Amino acid sequence: MYRTHSNGELRLTNVGQEVTLAGWVQKTRDKGFMIWVDLRDRYGITQLIFDEERTPKDIVEKAKTLGREFVIQVKGEVIERVSKNDNIATGEVEILVKELAILNESLTPPFTIEDETDGGDELRMKYRYLDIRRNPVKESLIFRHKVAIEVRKYLSDKEFIEVETPVLIKSTPEGARDFVVPSRMNEGQFYALPQSPQTFKQLLMVGGMDKYFQIVKCFRDEDLRADRQPEFTQIDCEMAFVEQEDILNTFEGLTRHLLKEVNGVEIADFPRMTYDVAMKKYGNDKPDIRFGMEFGELNEVAQHKEFGVFNNAELVVGIAVPGGASYTRKEIDKLIDWVKRPQVGALGMVYVKCNEDGSFKSSVDKFYDQEDLAKWAETTGAKPGDLICVLSGVADKVRAQLSALRMELAERLGLRDPKVFAPLWVVDFPLLEWDEDTERYHAMHHPFTSPKPEDMAMLDTDPGKVRANAYDLVLNGNEIGGGSIRIHDKETQALMFDHLGFTPEEAKEQFGFLMNAFEYGAPPHGGLAFGLDRLVAILGGQETIRDFIAFPKNNSGRDVMIDAPSNIDDEQLKELNLKLSL
Ligand code: ASP
Repeated sequence: MYRTHSNGELRLTNVGQEVTLAGWVQKTRDKGFMIWVDLRDRYGITQLIFDEERTPKDIVEKAKTLGREFVIQVKGEVIERVSKNDNIATGEVEILVKELAILNESLTPPFTIEDETDGGDELRMKYRYLDIRRNPVKESLIFRHKVAIEVRKYLSDKEFIEVETPVLIKSTPEGARDFVVPSRMNEGQFYALPQSPQTFKQLLMVGGMDKYFQIVKCFRDEDLRADRQPEFTQIDCEMAFVEQEDILNTFEGLTRHLLKEVNGVEIADFPRMTYDVAMKKYGNDKPDIRFGMEFGELNEVAQHKEFGVFNNAELVVGIAVPGGASYTRKEIDKLIDWVKRPQVGALGMVYVKCNEDGSFKSSVDKFYDQEDLAKWAETTGAKPGDLICVLSGVADKVRAQLSALRMELAERLGLRDPKVFAPLWVVDFPLLEWDEDTERYHAMHHPFTSPKPEDMAMLDTDPGKVRANAYDLVLNGNEIGGGSIRIHDKETQALMFDHLGFTPEEAKEQFGFLMNAFEYGAPPHGGLAFGLDRLVAILGGQETIRDFIAFPKNNSGRDVMIDAPSNIDDEQLKELNLKLSL
């Protein structure tokens, strides 16, 4: 037996027992006549003591050779510590060592295995197995496991069946590029890795599985943005014989379950908001509703004077910043510089200080009197002591800019508390989205999403206005899930492909299998997928997903530990009938 106990287990009640422990040497303290060693494993740290008077001499000598991260096994007696350590669970006891075996030696690790390490990102990723020994990473992985278990429990209780779908498939359109895998046995042909199991889960509904889920890897070859991974994990779900309402209720239930079981938080409100309202009130389809600062549209109360900038704008819109009236001129100038940064892109910012005495002082006093400004305050909900920030220009752009400012100010004001959770559904997304590059409409969600029946007539006349039975689950300003009610009849699906610019031949070639399945009694169905990595990070109160993934890729899509991607040898290329033209 390698060990009788873990290193997180022993307490005063164990005093007097003979135990065997194993683990890694966290640190040693050599006082000459006495040596202390902190022994670590996943469960905690236990202090070992090698005492010249009570430990055999050769064992004491051996202990002097121990280095950091050596793997050892000891036998000894649990004794009460003289000076106790309340920072660790085993801090009242130590092990008086009688036998010591060095199971493996270790090189000096390239960074310290401590909660606060001296290792930079690149180094930590290269030696990720050492990084995983550190508490923050270890805890994050255990946390992820807990979330996954709770997901499985909840869905299984609701009669969902976890079904595995294939990884070597052909293209599924989720709007990214496919990763492809050459087929040796089928010369010149390629598999694609799934961007999601979308078509398979729909086929499972045709197959009568009724309620499906899968915690599944998905692959998207996108230009990597910060904190995106080319392979990531979804909680993928689909249900038959449901309407949108059934799906929202089921997965509102899952979200509540997770927040309760994992975070101990009961959610009071779980609002639903249409896409249009989200854009109008927050300038964003994934609004952070942990705080207010909702948009006030000011066209009516700001376009009646001689101020050309506003008069020529499609939209004039502002937010009230709580307590902002006390900002100095310098602070406000800095804020103006902030919105003018290329990443935000505003041309300028008008501001109004709402003084405590009820008067107003603005950067456009030349054009607007106190009565005008009082109306702005009313529209933006500004109170005495607040600052109104106003942007203007092309509606879409201004909304995005003001949304960025709203988030930035909320961050600075400490309104984005990671321990507060504010989920909501955003519903009624547009079906189609105009793509400037290709100059045509794309499916905003994916081509299997059903249009709202009442909007179908607009498909020919005003396609951009057609709404879909599509919804996103938003948590603290992040989209953590999204899905739709699907098309389940062949005619509508063919119509959609047509509107998306597929010829009937192309549609048949790419999605013939789905269209065929729709001829054999496809039930009405719908579903959604959660991004597990992000969900876990948010529940864990963290900004980045990296440490919730055991072996993540870096920002260039590389695994620097195993050094992938890498070249393959000529023999392999030949077998695959591939030629590199470099
Ligand atoms: N397949 C979709 C996605 O990956 C989710 C869904 O519609 O269920 O975003």
